[in-house]
Amino acid sequence: MFENELVGEILKRYRRIWALSHVSALAEWDSDVMMPKGGSSLRGEAFAELAVLKQRFITDSSFVELVRRASREELNDYERGVIRILERSIHYYSSLPSEFVAEEERVIEAAKRAWEEAKQKSEFSIFRPHLERIFELQRKKAEYLGYDEHPYDALVDLYEEGATKRFLDRFFSVLVPEVSRLLKRIVSSPEFVERHELEDLTYVREDMERLNRFVLTAFGAPWDHFRMDVSAHPFTVDLAGPQDVRITTWYHGRDFRRSLLAAVHEWGHALYELQQDPELCCTPVSGGVSLGIHESQSRFWENHIGRSLAFVETFFDAFRLAIPSIGAYDIRDVYKYFNLVRPELIRVEADEVSYILHIALRYELEVAVIDGDISVAELPAAWNERIEKYLGVTPPDDAHGVLQDIHWAMGAVGYFPTYALGTVLSAQIRHAMEKDIGPLDELIRGKHFGAIRDWLFRKVHRFGSVYPPRELVRRALGEDLRTDYFLSYAKEHYGSIYGVSK
Ligand code: MG
Repeated sequence: MFENELVGEILKRYRRIWALSHVSALAEWDSDVMMPKGGSSLRGEAFAELAVLKQRFITDSSFVELVRRASREELNDYERGVIRILERSIHYYSSLPSEFVAEEERVIEAAKRAWEEAKQKSEFSIFRPHLERIFELQRKKAEYLGYDEHPYDALVDLYEEGATKRFLDRFFSVLVPEVSRLLKRIVSSPEFVERHELEDLTYVREDMERLNRFVLTAFGAPWDHFRMDVSAHPFTVDLAGPQDVRITTWYHGRDFRRSLLAAVHEWGHALYELQQDPELCCTPVSGGVSLGIHESQSRFWENHIGRSLAFVETFFDAFRLAIPSIGAYDIRDVYKYFNLVRPELIRVEADEVSYILHIALRYELEVAVIDGDISVAELPAAWNERIEKYLGVTPPDDAHGVLQDIHWAMGAVGYFPTYALGTVLSAQIRHAMEKDIGPLDELIRGKHFGAIRDWLFRKVHRFGSVYPPRELVRRALGEDLRTDYFLSYAKEHYGSIYGVSK
């Protein structure tokens, strides 16, 4: 796999950078799962110090020279992947002056605190000066990093290698009108429900946890290399894929699909890390290649498996065993409850259909602020106007509007589109998988999850970050990312549930 001598030398030196990333990831997991609240300020300092060390190793002149020399050699795909990823890191760290990096770190720390307070009090003015600084710095960052067409390209590329504003404009311009039409038809259908009884059904946390473990075990969770814990927001962390990958879910004591589908979603992320080629471990090409590809894996398990009728049928007895009061409902009730479509104010509560519109509005707004078309001060009003246009709902306050997400406070501008890319790609993956190994519903009914895992392993997972996202999609699916698979899946799936097929 790695035969070139210079690449071998690079990988040997990289072990140190890997070790730093490994302990940072462990500390990150600890922060969200284990750490007593009072530990957070020192933890923040430790993260900052580790980040500086990592930057120093990556930009070390003899290391950079080694990468440069290796890039001129005849290399195989895996070795080229190593060089590509390192060149991206070197470019990132050496383009940004260290004062800028330190300043950004400070601004983000303060912005996160201000955002928390602003959200809690629902007062945008507390967050506003911080957000202005954030956008200013992101604009500056784009200039430092460089771009061909638009400053947004430099930012989105940090999360989705190769994505551009031009591409995303086209992507959303196809999706938004179609998704809006579908949503309107669903909302005006007689099958539409404002609220489903099962949302209020309570459960005992231990029973719910047992159910989650049962389902993931059926999916093939390798518990020797995998953990599931609890955190405020579900997430996945790759500590040393494929040897140690962890997820979290949440338990609210009611509305059991939230806990179950979060575990299933994170399982999709985890499997991507668990099924990478073991030889990639501890190298720059270890782990998923981009946020969009990662999200396609989580959405595939959550939406195409977890929300299918076949899944509800297959696990219905397990549901009833864990939560006996489900016995008062039938499979169709639970299926409908898993697939409720309803315009919501909050992105993380949104269904698969309206989710696209939540992302589109964030994308449009961040581009508009980067372009200077709207100011940060105008954001709350622009937000409310757009969410009303797209979803027909009006935020009662900014906490339920512009202040709901932490992403901008963390300096993550260009991040949101990856959620929509993943959702759309997951439908295309399903289509390609079904062509190869047959209808997904039959695989689920037969509990042939090994065949599903194996297909994902062969086509996507084993390559880690060896290929850039676009090349990986072409290799795995034989074509570029397309919106039509998602649109026809959404129309068919939700159309049949809501009786709006035409
Ligand atoms: Mg996710």
